[in-house]
Amino acid sequence: MLDFIYHRRRRELVELLEQKGITDEKVLEAIGKIPRHQFIPDTALHIHAYENKAFPIGADQTISHPYTVAFQSQKLEIKKGDKVLEIGTGSGYQAAVLAELGAKVYSIERQKKLYDRTAPFLRKLGYKMHLYYGDGFLGKPVFAPYDKIIITAAAPEIPKALLEQLKIGGYLIIPLNNDKGSQDMLRIIKHYDEETKKYSYEKQQFETFSFVPMLKGEHL
Ligand code: SAH
Repeated sequence: MLDFIYHRRRRELVELLEQKGITDEKVLEAIGKIPRHQFIPDTALHIHAYENKAFPIGADQTISHPYTVAFQSQKLEIKKGDKVLEIGTGSGYQAAVLAELGAKVYSIERQKKLYDRTAPFLRKLGYKMHLYYGDGFLGKPVFAPYDKIIITAAAPEIPKALLEQLKIGGYLIIPLNNDKGSQDMLRIIKHYDEETKKYSYEKQQFETFSFVPMLKGEHL
């Protein structure tokens, strides 16, 4: 019944994201299409779902701000068929955006409660993804290498396992804790030198963001 309202609000959100500097048409299209309100369990918040805000999704976690999702997605420069590993499935919203961009999505969530809710929910929406309950610090080596890896929680360090699971020329986008209580958004590009037979990692730094913490396995 409220569909036309949500539709209008999504268009307004897309306009806001454009004003904030998001230029990738495919990312804007995905956000203009995905029913973000359905990813928020508290229906009383649905009317606010297209504001540029984070909302609780249970287990003390939040769905990221749409601008954050758009920013990370844009910086990943997804090409159709890219194999993408996401750390922190959460509500599934970022995963849905990646799928709309044509990625083959693998996503790991360490909160059982969220994994149990989000996996059937994404299936119900028609997304075919590879979702796992586990510790994202370890990645998912059996399906490596990945073209792109995205961490959607505040990382205390750059997880070594994830660098190993990245393809040569691949991107890792990671919000890394800084000393100001927020996170610097980094994009790390993996290179390989044929002569020295060594890997190197090019780091690009963007603006700061605010994420919920990426927690180690022992909190499982
Ligand atoms: N991408 C999500 C963002 C959710 S917030 C979305 O679009 O809704 C970050 C998520 O990362 C939370 O669900 C949190 O439980 C999860 N997380 C935190 N530490 C993790 C870890 N070590 N491995 C996997 N997931 C983790």
